[in-house]
Amino acid sequence: MTPSPALRRRTTQILAILKRTYPDAHCALNFTTPLQLLIATILSAQCTDERVNQVTPGLFARCPDAASLAAISQKELEKIIHSTGFYRAKARSLRSCAASLVAEHGGKVPKTMEALHQLAGVGRKTANVVLGNAFGLAEGVVVDTHVGRLSRRMGLTRHLDPVKVESALVRLIPKEDWTLVSHLLIAHGRKRCMARNPNCPQCELRKLCPQRGV
Ligand code: SF4
Repeated sequence: MTPSPALRRRTTQILAILKRTYPDAHCALNFTTPLQLLIATILSAQCTDERVNQVTPGLFARCPDAASLAAISQKELEKIIHSTGFYRAKARSLRSCAASLVAEHGGKVPKTMEALHQLAGVGRKTANVVLGNAFGLAEGVVVDTHVGRLSRRMGLTRHLDPVKVESALVRLIPKEDWTLVSHLLIAHGRKRCMARNPNCPQCELRKLCPQRGV
């Protein structure tokens, strides 16, 4: 459905306020290469970014490239990433993903949604994180739990399905802001619009937000 002009205007105002409020909003996972961001994002499933950032320095030192990650034993990798949770499945995904990178992409991370999506452990959200933050390619909007919750409360969408939330957001937000908007909404979700007890009285967006479901 095409968004109404009123909703477009309100979204533009929300975006402007969020940019002013969180001028330093950025990807919270530490990385220096696309491969490191891919690994960190796979590890971040059901885990905090802080915890992932504690684990990745040791992992990146032990496995500096896709070949070494493909070659590490399941047991050793499980031990290194244990504290991120779901470590058996994550270790399998990381090793399988790295093996595909070596076999099919010369050890490099591909730059397309289609190719990324075919790697083990990589869904649309992970692919969007890597494309937007490691390559500067806006293919879509990363929709995590914060982005979904805030989008619904602000009346930008009624959908629960992350893919449908993303479709609504890409219709409302200029392409050059697709990567940034996730960081802005995540920052606001942590500071003001928490899952429980959102701080609406002090919220920078209170005049623009219908506070749906709050
Ligand atoms: S007004 Fe309330 S519901 Fe709306 S964004 Fe702010 S904290 Fe969230």
